[in-house]
Amino acid sequence: SQKTDTCQKPKKADISVKHVILVLSGKGGVGKSTVSVNLAYALSNHGYQTGLLDLDIHGPSIGKMLGIEDLRLQAIGNKIMPVKITGSLKVISMALLLNETDSPIVWRGPMKAAAIQQFLGDVEWGDLDYLVVDLPPGTGDEALNIVQFAPNVEGAVIVTTPQDVAVLDSTKAIKFVEMMDLPVLGVIENMSGMVCPHCGEIVDLFGKGGGEKAAKQYNVPYLGAIPIDIEMRKAGDEGKPFIVRKPGETSPTWDAVDAVME
Ligand code: ADP
Repeated sequence: SQKTDTCQKPKKADISVKHVILVLSGKGGVGKSTVSVNLAYALSNHGYQTGLLDLDIHGPSIGKMLGIEDLRLQAIGNKIMPVKITGSLKVISMALLLNETDSPIVWRGPMKAAAIQQFLGDVEWGDLDYLVVDLPPGTGDEALNIVQFAPNVEGAVIVTTPQDVAVLDSTKAIKFVEMMDLPVLGVIENMSGMVCPHCGEIVDLFGKGGGEKAAKQYNVPYLGAIPIDIEMRKAGDEGKPFIVRKPGETSPTWDAVDAVME
């Protein structure tokens, strides 16, 4: 049988990137992919060469949110070509490897590690200023693999919702990031209140302030709150990131999203 080389120090992937930012949450469905997509878009809109790497292997939704779920990854020579969304935004998603968009991926740990290494080193990313990594919810192997294989990992942004139980999960994510010896770049409270589609006022649906409380408790930065907005969900379903608005359009959610993404 083949000997595993677990004792070898992991080799950093050959990728040119100045800052790698991980996006993490304690549990699923809190808006981690939404934040990843909008953060990547915001960075590219500021003129930074940006990559978005979707490692949510078991539930990749980035493809759908960017309207590219029908595309498949291509290789030229021995390089994987990322999908170009704009001149300064390139995307790689697990979903773009699947044959059917709804088939689940059953991968064992070592396969995931190999895939993650390839998604860093074998992709034609070019020179990146930022690589935003959408990780699966919880505290799994993917985050550990990224920290092992990626250079210049700056830290993690943690997305949570205001409910107590989600906040409890997110505190686990904060501790996990600290265990990996990485800084928590900040906590974002998503689905914080709801924008009434009739009057535009913000209604406190699940309560408020849980994210800020968790951030204070663990002495990490609090980046701000994004309300529940039907337009935000529609933007995700339609494959057009919320942050890309029509000229002149304003809303309380855009103000909130702009503030967080700054
Ligand atoms: P996760 O990546 O944490 O599983 P997603 O980003 O996929 O979560 O979000 C789950 C669902 O909630 C998606 O349909 C998304 O469009 C929607 N959603 C996320 N944030 C908001 C928000 N602030 N307002 C309305 N819908 C949202």
